[in-house]
Amino acid sequence: MSRRTLLGSVRRAGVGVHSGCPSEVILRPAASSAGVRFLTADGIVPLSWRTAAAGAGCSVVRSGAAAVATPEHLLAALFALEVLDVDVEVRSSSAGLTEVPILGGAASDWVAAIDEAGRTEPQPGPPPLSLPEVEVHTAGGSAHAGPGSDTLAVDVDFGAGGPTGSLTVERTEAAFREHVMWARTFVREEDVAALVAAGRGRGATPENTVVWPTSALHAPESRATPSRYNSPGSLPSAAGLSDEPVRHKLLDLWGDLAVLGPFCGWVRVRRPSHALNHALVAAIASAVGGDQP
Ligand SMILES: [Zn+2]
Repeated sequence: MSRRTLLGSVRRAGVGVHSGCPSEVILRPAASSAGVRFLTADGIVPLSWRTAAAGAGCSVVRSGAAAVATPEHLLAALFALEVLDVDVEVRSSSAGLTEVPILGGAASDWVAAIDEAGRTEPQPGPPPLSLPEVEVHTAGGSAHAGPGSDTLAVDVDFGAGGPTGSLTVERTEAAFREHVMWARTFVREEDVAALVAAGRGRGATPENTVVWPTSALHAPESRATPSRYNSPGSLPSAAGLSDEPVRHKLLDLWGDLAVLGPFCGWVRVRRPSHALNHALVAAIASAVGGDQP
């Protein structure tokens, strides 16, 4: 896997999906091999498996007093497009959580921002990490990784009421653009009240978040197509739900794996969550000796 940076800076502003607070991100070119760095008012967070962890309904990167929540959709776009050297300045007007804006709820807006900024030609980097054979089991699910083909797979199973489904994609930019980047974040209808009570999802709207109708009388019928969700003003509907949440789980996994940097190999996660994704990352880091000082 080669690595690139941006040709210029690009800015996007919106609100955090959990905080509901205005925030903005400015992506800036960085020196070759500088890696991904989050620049906040409280300090700098270099992206690595040591600085990333699962938060409440999102991932969080943290170093000292500096922390940024919900970076995963942006990270998925950067990783899929090989933009591995970049400064991510995050500005938030809120006193609390600094959160990457949710924008359209998926990664399409970040891909568009990267395309707008332009990318340098690929630069050769160190050889990619070859994934070791790793297996992680938690109460919620399981994750496996190993050397070989560059594929990501998720098996989503929320039980009765769904969403449920499996998806395997090649880990290429083309596959990301076609099958993954447009899938919006989602919440199960029956979980909405608890989410609101916990003070989360304050920035969620019908445009950026799919509400999965757990009380629906019918199963989703139609298959999703990218054009449907990319069309402006399209709202979630029973007929349009299909496998978008499954694809979003794969999008989140793609973003959470960005902390590993370039790698080759396959990953399969059954009932993925940010906690499970990060547990897998920690197991991979441990297996390759990355947990040593
Ligand atoms: Zn997500």
